[in-house]
Order: sequence, then C-alpha cells, then structure tokens
Amino acid sequence: MIKQKGILFDSTLCAGCGECYNACKKQNKLPDTNTDYLRDRLSSETYTVVEDYSGVYTRKMCMHCQHPTCVSVCPVGAFEKTALGPVLYDADKCLGCRYCMQACPHHIPRYEWTSNNPRVKKCIMCYDKISKGEGTACSEVCPTGATLFGDRDELLKEAKKRIAENPGSYYPEIFGDDEVGGSNVMILASEPFEKLGFAKNLPKEPLPQYTARALDKIPAVVGVGGAFLTGMFWLTKRKNQIAKEKKSGKE
Ligand code: SF4
Ligand code: SF4
Ligand code: SF4
Repeated sequence: MIKQKGILFDSTLCAGCGECYNACKKQNKLPDTNTDYLRDRLSSETYTVVEDYSGVYTRKMCMHCQHPTCVSVCPVGAFEKTALGPVLYDADKCLGCRYCMQACPHHIPRYEWTSNNPRVKKCIMCYDKISKGEGTACSEVCPTGATLFGDRDELLKEAKKRIAENPGSYYPEIFGDDEVGGSNVMILASEPFEKLGFAKNLPKEPLPQYTARALDKIPAVVGVGGAFLTGMFWLTKRKNQIAKEKKSGKE
C-alpha cells in the first residue's frame, strides 16, 4: 500500500530565513518576484511564502487537501489528488475558469493575470522529487527543521508528540489534521492559526460534495439543504475575496 506523504511545518521553529522560498523558486524555475521575500505574496510565480507576524514566522502554500475542492469543482479534470498525497494539475487542460480559486478553502491557487493564455498555478509538493523517494526542495534546505517532509501518519504523530511534550509552547491543535477533512500539509504554531492568517472556522467535514452540488446548481436541497447552503456560502465568500484582492492590485 502506498503511504501518503506530507509536510509538517512547525512555526515555533521557523527562523524566517526564506531558504524554503528560494529553494521553491529554484526547483520550479520561477522568476524573482521581490527583493524582500518576507513581503512577497503567493502568485503564479511564487508557490510558497514566508510571512512575519510580529516576529512569528509562518509559511503559506497549498495544503494538499485529502478531499480537495479544487479537484471536485474543475470542469475539465485539470486537478488530480494523487495516491502519494500531492494535488497536481495539468496546465494544458486548464480552461482558466477559476472555479478552483473560488472553491479553495485555503485561498491558494493563483492566476496568470498577465498572460495571453492564463492558467492557474500552485505548489505541487515537488511531485517529481518525492516520486523518486526524495524530499521536497523546501524541506531539504530548511536549516531549523521547521519544514519536515515524511509519511503523513508519522508527521501527525510527531506533531501530537510535540504538543503533548511542550504544551506551553504550542496552541493545542494541528491545522490540517481535520480541517475540511484534513490535508497532507499540517501546521503547528504557538497561537491560534487565524492570528497567522490561516482560514478560521473551517468545517471538519470535506467540502467537495458541497461545492460540487453548488456548482452544478442541483436543487437537491431536500434532505441536504445544509450541504447546499454551505457550498454556496463558500463560493460566494471566495468570489468576493478574489474580487477585493484583484481590485487592490494583489494577485
Ligand atoms: S489547498 Fe486549495 S488548491 Fe490546495 S489542494 Fe486544497 S483545495 Fe486544492
Ligand atoms: S513542496 Fe516543492 S513546490 Fe511546494 S512549496 Fe515546497 S518546494 Fe515549492
Ligand atoms: S527554511 Fe525553514 S526556517 Fe527558513 S523560513 Fe523556511 S521554514 Fe522557516
């Protein structure tokens, strides 16, 4: 049986050095987008960022959800959840409809706004490397061990152990353990995750069935009204958020 891989990012160990940011750029042959990496934002040319919250550093990247909404809403099957864990996409199939951007609960996929043939881009958990038994580029360079790559179940055990052994150092939850059904990227931090810019109040259940119904506009409201409304709520909220960011010039 294939063991799912994952990444554990422990914000309490992160020095904010930006080595992961640089390694990701190099691995994916992405251009330099900012002279100050701490001010860069996720974009079609930046798949991970390091953010500074008053001296507490955190990373943002695709969470590689266990039940990804990007997969379920894409009308042409450009996204795929692999057995190894990463969520991949086929840029050649992408229509540029941006349903995935609207549906992603973690606000991850980015659009090539300036391209004549715009497509959506995001982290692919270094799939080529990990398929060969290597680690991700970002975990291999991390000098403090804040970004760890390994088997998802082992990383989850490690995260629980850290919280149990040092309860004073950690907020007592693992972001990505069960948010929207869990993800292959998991986060530890010393404070509530929303204070570090992560989505708050995410349901513990997977979202794909909700968004798929909402997108298809299937009036299967009888008996599943709550699910339908949850899907509509997510899509509307994401649509407004994207419109606001586009207006403010942020990708
Ligand atoms: S974080 Fe968003 S883009 Fe990444 S797998 Fe989940 S739904 Fe898809
Ligand atoms: S896993 Fe690979 S693609 Fe994703 S952020 Fe790390 S280096 Fe970039
Ligand atoms: S390489 Fe490690 S310590 Fe440096 S910013 Fe990235 S996660 Fe933090």
